[in-house]
Amino acid sequence: MRVFFALLFRNRLAGIGGVVLAIIVALVLLTPVLPLQNPDVTAMGDRFLRPLSPGHLLGTDALGRDLLSRLLWGTRLSLAVGFAAAVAAGLIGSAVGIIAGYAGGRIDNAIMRFVDMLMAFPYILLALAIVAALGPGLMNALIAVAAVNVPFFARNIRGITVGLASRDFIDAARLSGKGHVRIVLTELLPNVLPVIVIAMSTTIGWMILETAGLSFLGLGSQPPQADLGSMLGEARAAMISAPHTSVVPGVMIFLIVMSINLLGDGVRDALDPRLKSGALTRPMAATRVARRNVPEAQGSGLLQIDDLEAQFHVGRRVYRAVNGVSLSIAPGECVGLIGESGSGKSVTALSVMGLVASPPGVITGGAVRLADEDLIGAPYARLRALRGNKVAYVFQDPLSTLHPLYRVGDQLTEAITSHHRISAHEARERALKLLADVRIPNPAARLSAYPHELSGGMRQRIGIAMALANEPEVIIADEPTTALDVTVQAQVLALLDDLRRRKNVAIVFITHDFGIVGQLCDRVAVMYAGRIVEEGPTERVLSDPAHPYTRRLIACVPELGGGRRQLPAIPGLPPAVDQLPEGCAFAPRCDRATPDCAQGEIGLRGSLRKVRCIHPEAEVGA
Ligand code: ADP
Ligand code: MG
Repeated sequence: MRVFFALLFRNRLAGIGGVVLAIIVALVLLTPVLPLQNPDVTAMGDRFLRPLSPGHLLGTDALGRDLLSRLLWGTRLSLAVGFAAAVAAGLIGSAVGIIAGYAGGRIDNAIMRFVDMLMAFPYILLALAIVAALGPGLMNALIAVAAVNVPFFARNIRGITVGLASRDFIDAARLSGKGHVRIVLTELLPNVLPVIVIAMSTTIGWMILETAGLSFLGLGSQPPQADLGSMLGEARAAMISAPHTSVVPGVMIFLIVMSINLLGDGVRDALDPRLKSGALTRPMAATRVARRNVPEAQGSGLLQIDDLEAQFHVGRRVYRAVNGVSLSIAPGECVGLIGESGSGKSVTALSVMGLVASPPGVITGGAVRLADEDLIGAPYARLRALRGNKVAYVFQDPLSTLHPLYRVGDQLTEAITSHHRISAHEARERALKLLADVRIPNPAARLSAYPHELSGGMRQRIGIAMALANEPEVIIADEPTTALDVTVQAQVLALLDDLRRRKNVAIVFITHDFGIVGQLCDRVAVMYAGRIVEEGPTERVLSDPAHPYTRRLIACVPELGGGRRQLPAIPGLPPAVDQLPEGCAFAPRCDRATPDCAQGEIGLRGSLRKVRCIHPEAEVGA
């Protein structure tokens, strides 16, 4: 709730709207107890008194009635009617929309065609027709305004519901034996509620205007009772001789509708969960960099990462996702980066090319050198020239990396032509060759396929082909096989291994599976809570792990022919990276921990093999 208000008031206009509306609502609520004159008492001797006349702050109208009093009572009425109409339209329309969207099929069709029919009429005409049929009166105006807005809600909510109704969590609820009513109430409703609230908050203003419009025409509130619309209507005759009688209600309508709309926009932004973790902005093209000094290179790798620090700044919280990671990768080498989910592997990988979303991401320290050129803080144009060209990424989920509406051939050729000026024909030839390289059968036919027409394994091969499109020097593969089944995984791994041997590509392979590291990587670095806790040649780390965390991770891998044994899970959870403990972050879960593990800074010791532990399981040498 506090976050909601913080976000709402960060939007200055919404804040102003909120304050103005709050003042108006407070005045209107207090109207019955304020020392106001009776709004309906006429005094023919006091007609058209100007504002600031004694006894009449805003003057009087054509019948000598006090305008201030009429304004407040009228505003009260207008707000109440507009709000009631919005709630009624929102409830009925949403219910209709949810039923249509959830039921689907014929019921959906019947309901939506009826709704379409209502929408085909200009809605003011429809409202007029309804009032004409029911007879003038404020209640009937309310009914008319609510009725003409029901289709708007029904359409909106039905669209959202259709999208949700086919999702897995609804199927899961159905399988668990929940009835339709319970599914709608406990699964669907919480998900559409924010949309309903948003739709309502952005339409209340409209409904107040519409009711005022009907009253203006004499179809809403009936004399002597007045709402803002009928006040305007009565003042029309004296527009020139006594303009204040129309200006007063006009300004009030303007203030109400403006403030509601501004506030509604703010509410919409604040309720959007995607905006909660970041500011109300789109991510920048490259990660924000705020580092004090540039560290010395600690090695001479093709890709050399030194003391990299990356954080997320969300409100006053600081999530320290990467805390001083150093890694060196030579041409043709494959280095594994392994660790539990949330240990900072992806953020490390994305920092290399400035791809961490900012806000909230910030690179707060370190250097990333590609062939001795520091890329942290490099101009965007330079990063752009390198991304996908010298350094390419393969991500976990190929379905979300490929654009669903373009043919894979077009996406592949675009990856090439965005870095090389070649003809469309040449690009196509290259794309064909790439598909053959990643062993996609019948590549010519596949070029014109859409991503959804391919299997998961094939999509990931397309992803790899795209990464290879510009003959990169470094490929960063972030869990590229996690979404695939084991046989396809084996093929993809064989493909990557073959590529690096033939093309001398350096590979950073991110995974949480030690089984894969053993098959593919020359060296492996183990990450925990944003730091590397152990590093070394794969066989040595696998055969005798030095860090207790590494040993526990390796123990989680089942072995074929290893007989029956319990696969021990590591108890506890990784620490939250906004509250990292002092000393070793793994100590609270470690069976070898002693009190001194939770003190001071524990450094990474060793050269060929490195470990960050004061009670290692194996010696790593100097
Ligand atoms: P993994 O090792 O599973 O790839 P990540 O590198 O994605 O882990 O995440 C590292 C840490 O950064 C996690 O603890 C996560 O909570 C934090 N993190 C990632 N993205 C954000 C974000 N947008 N806002 C706040 N924290 C984030
Ligand atoms: Mg990840």
